[in-house]
Amino acid sequence: MTSENSNLPTISDDLLLQCMHCGMCLPTCPTYVLTKRERSSPRGRIRLIKSVSDGKLAFSQEFIEEMNFCLDCRACETACPAGVHYSRIIDETRRVIIEKSQASLKARIIRKIMLNSLFARQNRLQTVAKLIRIYQKSGLELLNLKFNIAGIFSRKLKMLSPLAPQISSKFTYQLLPEFLPAHGESKYKVGFLTGCIQDVAFADVNYATAQVLVRNNCDVYVPRNQVCCGSVHAHSGAVEQAQQQLVQNTAAFNIDNLDFVIVNAAGCGSFLKECTDVEMKGNGEYPKIKKLASKTRDISEFLNEINFRKPKSSLNLKVTYHDACHLVHGQKIRNSPRSIITAIPGIKFIEMPESDWCCGSAGVYNITHTATSFALLDRKFDNIETADAEIIVSANTGCSIQLAYGVRQRKSALKIMHPVELLWWAYQKENIA
Ligand code: SF4
Ligand code: SF4
Repeated sequence: MTSENSNLPTISDDLLLQCMHCGMCLPTCPTYVLTKRERSSPRGRIRLIKSVSDGKLAFSQEFIEEMNFCLDCRACETACPAGVHYSRIIDETRRVIIEKSQASLKARIIRKIMLNSLFARQNRLQTVAKLIRIYQKSGLELLNLKFNIAGIFSRKLKMLSPLAPQISSKFTYQLLPEFLPAHGESKYKVGFLTGCIQDVAFADVNYATAQVLVRNNCDVYVPRNQVCCGSVHAHSGAVEQAQQQLVQNTAAFNIDNLDFVIVNAAGCGSFLKECTDVEMKGNGEYPKIKKLASKTRDISEFLNEINFRKPKSSLNLKVTYHDACHLVHGQKIRNSPRSIITAIPGIKFIEMPESDWCCGSAGVYNITHTATSFALLDRKFDNIETADAEIIVSANTGCSIQLAYGVRQRKSALKIMHPVELLWWAYQKENIA
């Protein structure tokens, strides 16, 4: 990637000048703690952006690398007493970087295929997922990992091969109908966003989510024509494509007729709630997108809001919880998933140290910054192991994939579950008893 030597005209001073340089965010920033470099801290990055915006520093390759080194984990936002909206600053900066930099032809083609073709058309993503499933089920994956076949082609491919999520044996549309009526009294009409990777790699979590919702007085709509929420596109600078995805989903969900849209992946929920910020104001469908944002609820948040039905049967398990960055820092949801876990009789809940420290997944960070990502995963697992649990609960697609990789690397017996999977498990046991 090459760059021009010019400033960053579109980063708003209103956002940048909110930072009073107090440094409270520094100890919470994984890239600062790893490097001890001021420029790799939230405060340092804000200073760099301001300097480049003002034309005092060059828009250089070093600047681009520093901006991309940030995990966008938003831990700095939780720590910041001045309310600096850091993720807005870094997202806007990255958008400008993508606009101003001339990526190689190969990188541009890959980006276009991924964003416009794969993540914009769920049926295409499902086709690719089916091929990966054949590769995984046929034993080819085992052979590759055992004999390091990917390593023959590239070191990066060798590192990344074990990161691929296990593809579900059935996808969400094969498990759930388009409409599931509430069991008993119907009090809420909810749409359910089944996600992109979530749909093909965590279809069982989607199934559990719908089952829990119908047992909590919800009529559940699972439109077949829904698409990826658009966060992948917005975070990759493809704002127009993100807008299209949002508009398509307001229509697919018939947003005026629903009380809520339920999301079980933290990254998607965080994006949908904040999507009106993503330069949507000029879009003709802005009022509908605003409505989609205001009706979006994370599943744990929603279940607590409606005082979910507490299970009566017990699960005798030792459970710990990993806070997904986009749930705890992005959506400020800390207690709701814990309330679900601790409402299940028999569960011994153990807090792990640094539960809200990023696991290193961070979108595609484990692909673009593999070494740093794995260093963070090591730190996470050292903390998980002190909890001595049988189950790690996590409520985000990327975190669950990253944690599953950690489990395989450490040859651990730990199981990774979503909070609703635990709740659904307890409900099922109750019905059997
Ligand atoms: S988003 Fe995370 S990695 Fe980036 S500056 Fe904030 S705390 Fe550091
Ligand atoms: S805590 Fe907030 S105000 Fe203080 S240095 Fe960090 S970003 Fe700036």
